Amino acid sequence: MEPFLHKGYCLTIDNYYSSPELADKLVSWRTDTKPQEKRSPKGNAEKKLKKGEIIAFQRGKVTVMKWMDKKKVSLLSTIHNTEMEQIQVRSEMKEKPKIVMDYNNTMGGVDRMDQNLKSFEIIKKRGKKCYRKIFFHIFDIAVWNSYVVYRKNGGKNMQLEFRLDLIDRVIEKYHSGLNFHHGRPGSEPDPLRLTERHFLEIIAPTDKKLRPARQCAVCCSKRNENGKRIRKETCYFCPDCDVGLCITPCFKLYHTQKDF
Ligand SMILES: [Zn+2]
Ligand SMILES: [Zn+2]
Repeated sequence: MEPFLHKGYCLTIDNYYSSPELADKLVSWRTDTKPQEKRSPKGNAEKKLKKGEIIAFQRGKVTVMKWMDKKKVSLLSTIHNTEMEQIQVRSEMKEKPKIVMDYNNTMGGVDRMDQNLKSFEIIKKRGKKCYRKIFFHIFDIAVWNSYVVYRKNGGKNMQLEFRLDLIDRVIEKYHSGLNFHHGRPGSEPDPLRLTERHFLEIIAPTDKKLRPARQCAVCCSKRNENGKRIRKETCYFCPDCDVGLCITPCFKLYHTQKDF
C-alpha cells in the first residue's frame, strides 16, 4: 500500500483477491485499487481480441478491461481508464495500457516481499496448527512492511540487522520481568502459582447450573491403586490459575508444592 494523491491509499493486489465487489468496498473506504490481473470477468469473456486491442467496461469508478498482449490480460482498476503509454522496447516504440505499466511497477513489490518472506519466514514447516501459520505469516508481512518504511526513511539496507534490532526493542519494551527466566540454563523457573498471592473462589453459578463444579487439578493428577485416574469434582477454583481445587488440602498443596 502506498500513499496516493494525499486522499487515501492505493492498493495493488493480484488476481487471487480482486473482484468488482472488493473494488466497490475499497472505493467506499476511500482506497483505490490499482490494476490486478483478473481472469476473464464474466460478460466480456468471449470477445475475441486481436493483439494490441483493448476492451473495457465501466461501472462507477470501477473499470474492468481486457488487453490482448501475447496472451489475454484481464485487469480491474478504480483509478485507470484505457489510456495507452508509449514505451521503448529495444529499438522499437511500443504501446501498452497505462494500467499494465502501473501494475508491473507496483506489483514488483509484492513479488519481492513473497520472495523475501521465504528466506525470513518465522514458521517453516514445523508448525502444525493452521491458525498459528496464518498469524505468523501476517506477522512476517508486518515486519517486512516496517522494514520497507524504515528504508524509505533512510534506514540501512541490512535486513538481518534490522530484524535483530527489532527483536531487541520488542523484548525491551514488552517483557514483564515476571515471566523472564534468569536461572541457570536447564533449570526450570518456579511456577508463578508458588510465588504470587492467589485466593480461592467459588465457581460462579450459570443459567444452567446453580452450583457448577470442575475437576480438582490436584486430585485428578493422581491415580488409584488400579492405575485409573482419580476423578474428583469441586465447586471451588483459583481464578488466577483457572483450575478447579478442593478447599483442603488441594488449594494449599497446589500453591506450595512444585510437584504435588
Ligand atoms: Zn492459583
Ligand atoms: Zn482435590
